[in-house]
Amino acid sequence: MNVGVLALQGAFIEHEKKLRALGAEVVEVRLPADLYGLDGLIIPGGESTTIGKLAVQFGLIEPLREFARTKPTWGTCAGMIFLAKDIGIDRQPILGLMDIQVNRNAFGRQVDSFEVDLAIPDVGEVPFHAVFIRAPVVTEARKGVQVLAQLEDGRIVAVRQEHLLATAFHPELTDDVRFHAYFLKMIAGK
Ligand code: GLN
Repeated sequence: MNVGVLALQGAFIEHEKKLRALGAEVVEVRLPADLYGLDGLIIPGGESTTIGKLAVQFGLIEPLREFARTKPTWGTCAGMIFLAKDIGIDRQPILGLMDIQVNRNAFGRQVDSFEVDLAIPDVGEVPFHAVFIRAPVVTEARKGVQVLAQLEDGRIVAVRQEHLLATAFHPELTDDVRFHAYFLKMIAGK
C-alpha cells in the first residue's frame, strides 16, 4: 500500500513513522507528480495558512483536490482545516471538500493545548489518548458526515465522510497506532 504524506510543513515525519510501523510504503508529497500511484494521503498538522500558501506556490491545490475527491485522504488538525468546505470568516487557500464547518484555534492559544482520553468506538474499545495543539473544532457536521469522536461537552473532534477522514487532534504524536490502522483499513476497503 502506497501512502503519501503531504510534506510541505508541520508534523509529517511522525505520520510517516506510524505508517511504516504498520507496513505501508510512504511517499513524501511536495510536488503534483508525487501523488502519482498513491492509494491514500495524509495531510498533517502544522499551520494551515502556511500549508495553504506553499500548496499554492507548488501548484498543488488542484492536484490535491482532484486526488482527495476520490482517494482516501486524512487531515489532522491543520489538515482538517485544509479539507473543510467552510472555515468561517477566515480567508486562506483550502481544498474545501468535506461538508463540515470548522472553527480554527477553537481552544485558544498555544498555552491552551491539552490532552484528553476520547471514546472512539470505531477505532477501538479502549479510549484514545488525544493531543490537541491549537486545535480546530467542527462546529457543524453536515449531511453525509459521520461523527467519530466528541469531547465531553459535545464538541466534535473527529469526522468521516466516505473516503475522507479528519481529526482535530494529533494521533501521530502518541504511541497508539490504532487511528493509522483505521485509515489503512479505509484505504484497503476502497
Ligand atoms: N492552529 C493551526 C491552524 O490554524 C493548526 C494547529 C495544528 O495543526 N496543530 O492551522
